[in-house]
Amino acid sequence: MTQYPASITNLIKHISKLPGIGEKTAERLAMHILRSPRKEAEELAQSIVRVKEKVQLCTRCYGLSDGELCTICADPTRDATVLCVVEQPADMVAVEKSGAYRGLYHILSGVLSPMNGVGPDDIRISELLSRIERQQLKEVVLATSTSVEGESTAAYIAQRLASYTVKVTRIASGVPMGGDLKYVDQVTLKKAMEARHNV
Ligand SMILES: [Zn+2]
Repeated sequence: MTQYPASITNLIKHISKLPGIGEKTAERLAMHILRSPRKEAEELAQSIVRVKEKVQLCTRCYGLSDGELCTICADPTRDATVLCVVEQPADMVAVEKSGAYRGLYHILSGVLSPMNGVGPDDIRISELLSRIERQQLKEVVLATSTSVEGESTAAYIAQRLASYTVKVTRIASGVPMGGDLKYVDQVTLKKAMEARHNV
C-alpha cells in the first residue's frame, strides 16, 4: 500500500474499517472510486454525510427516520390498529419487503438478555405499553427473532400484555430457529406473517 499516494492510502484505510471489508477489498473499492466519474464519487461521499446529519429515531415507533415521524408512521393509509414488535430497524425493513403487513411498528432496539445484563428497562417495553394504552389497538404481532433471546423476549412481552384486551400474536415458526428477520427470505417471512398465531 506504500506505493500509493497518501490520499489513496487514506481512502483504503477508511474503507477497510467497514465490517467485512479486508484490505484487498478496500483497495479494490478505492480503485473503483478513483476510476468512477467525479459526480458518482461525490454522491457517495454526500450520501454518507447526509445519513449522519439527517437520520434520527422516529418519535413514535423508534425506527430510522429522516424527520420526526418515519414514512410508515406518517402514512395515513397504514392500519393503525395493528402493531408489529421487532428487535431492530432492519427487521422492520425486512417485514416491509415481505409485503404481508400493513400495520404500524414498534422497535425494541434489542432483546432481553440477562447474560449480557439487558433487562426490560433496557429495551423499549415501557414505551410499548404506553403506546398500547394510548392507541386503539386490535392486535400486537410479536415479530422478534426465533433465537432463544428473541423467543423469551416475545414470551415476556406476551405476559406483560396478558392484562390488556388487545389480541397478541406471534409470527409463525416458518422463520428458521435462531433466524434473524433481516436474513430471512421474503417469501418465508410473508408466510410467517400470514400464519401468525395467538399467544
Ligand atoms: Zn415511525
